[in-house]
Amino acid sequence: MSIRNEIIMDFSSNSENESLARTVISAFVARLDPTLEELADIKTAVSEAVTNAIIHGYEKQPGMVRMKAVIQENVLSIEISDQGAGIENLKRAMEPMYTSKPELDRSGMGFAFMEAFMDELEVESEVGKGTVIRMKKRIYSAIHIS
Ligand code: ATP
Ligand code: MG
Repeated sequence: MSIRNEIIMDFSSNSENESLARTVISAFVARLDPTLEELADIKTAVSEAVTNAIIHGYEKQPGMVRMKAVIQENVLSIEISDQGAGIENLKRAMEPMYTSKPELDRSGMGFAFMEAFMDELEVESEVGKGTVIRMKKRIYSAIHIS
């Protein structure tokens, strides 16, 4: 049986750190031997969540973003959280094509991508307190790993 593995990374809300988060999650999930497609899905979901924390959560003000990731058996769980603005209307925010920042050329597809590329997506948010995104993905290529 595979052992549970966990990492926590805190980083400042600097857009350069989006690629750092992608690199770290890729390295972390490598032991599950994901396919290139699974890996691309995970990196995209992480990018979308981290970008949201930086752009919407902190609106480019300084702040800290946390990425927590756990591997248990062949399931990868990722939590991306910020202590920024929070989301007033979560149902509306999660609708495909909804963006509160059309002037920045955002397309409003971040949550839709996270939902499509991961097996589970859960969002918890409070105005003035921040936002937590929880995502899970089962890595099929790891099924035969003992
Ligand atoms: P895109 O991701 O396509 O560039 P977007 O970021 O506006 O556009 P989503 O990622 O789907 O689209 O997010 C939808 C809306 O939810 C955002 O416009 C924003 O209002 C809100 N939102 C998302 N994440 C956060 C967050 N971490 N903190 C505060 N608001 C958020
Ligand atoms: Mg987004």
